[in-house]
Amino acid sequence: KTGVLEYIKSEPNMDDIGGLENVKRWLKKRNKSWLDSAEEYGLPAPKGVLLTGVPGCGKSLIAKAISSMWQLPLLKLDMGKIFSGIVGSSEENMRKAISTAEAISPSILWIDEIEKGLSGIGASGDSGTSTRVFGTLLTWMQEKTKPVFVIATANNIHAIPPELLRKGRFDEIFFVDLPTKKERMEIFKIHLNKRLKSPKARGDFQFDHQTLEKLADLTETFIGAEIEQVVISALFEAYSQDRGITFSDFEKVISNTVPLSVTQAEQIR
Ligand code: ATP
Repeated sequence: KTGVLEYIKSEPNMDDIGGLENVKRWLKKRNKSWLDSAEEYGLPAPKGVLLTGVPGCGKSLIAKAISSMWQLPLLKLDMGKIFSGIVGSSEENMRKAISTAEAISPSILWIDEIEKGLSGIGASGDSGTSTRVFGTLLTWMQEKTKPVFVIATANNIHAIPPELLRKGRFDEIFFVDLPTKKERMEIFKIHLNKRLKSPKARGDFQFDHQTLEKLADLTETFIGAEIEQVVISALFEAYSQDRGITFSDFEKVISNTVPLSVTQAEQIR
């Protein structure tokens, strides 16, 4: 971790992501060599993707999965730190981050919560700095010659300046919404497979299609992160009583969970 950038070691792959079929479909058609060969073929040079939507539904997972799928280094840019004034001037921080990503290219630059740093634009206060930093980023994205793929993630699409949403800025913009029933079933399956490896923890519990459906029905407004937490908490119930997990553990944990997603989803729509 140096200054405003963090090197992320990423293990998750596409199979660790439940749902989000539109993103997966888009990615299936693009591999690492697309970064080098698109232009040769007469296509525009790949720019990147913008992932926006409900928090805790897999945006970070996608960024990590792209990096492990393409086997490219993933650099996470902390927008908050760009403006913090602790590690240098804001524009200098942005330029340094860009040149580091270029120095290790082909690479992926993940700009997390891009809306955070840009929300001051057009408003009073420090808007001058925001505008200049944003300008540096946009100009670079427009003119970059090195294969650096940008993944921008944002929770609040309304806080993103329209310039960034303009056609041609990114190769694609994806909206990540609350998981549907089918997606919740997939997310449960992924985390149950991951956690219930020990026969002791698993006991007689079978997570067949019907069980997954029941779990999904009980968690209608849950985000992916909450589903993962349900699995962990249910497992802890079983662990604390030194027995295998049961369906009632899930029912108990779910009835004690207040999903945050509803208010959050309403705020950003
Ligand atoms: P934030 O904007 O709050 O960072 P995010 O959209 O980037 O949220 P993630 O960090 O990807 O969300 O999700 C948090 C955790 O929740 C993940 O590490 C994963 O364990 C679980 N999770 C979320 N969405 C999914 C999903 N679609 N499939 C499987 N697991 C998921």
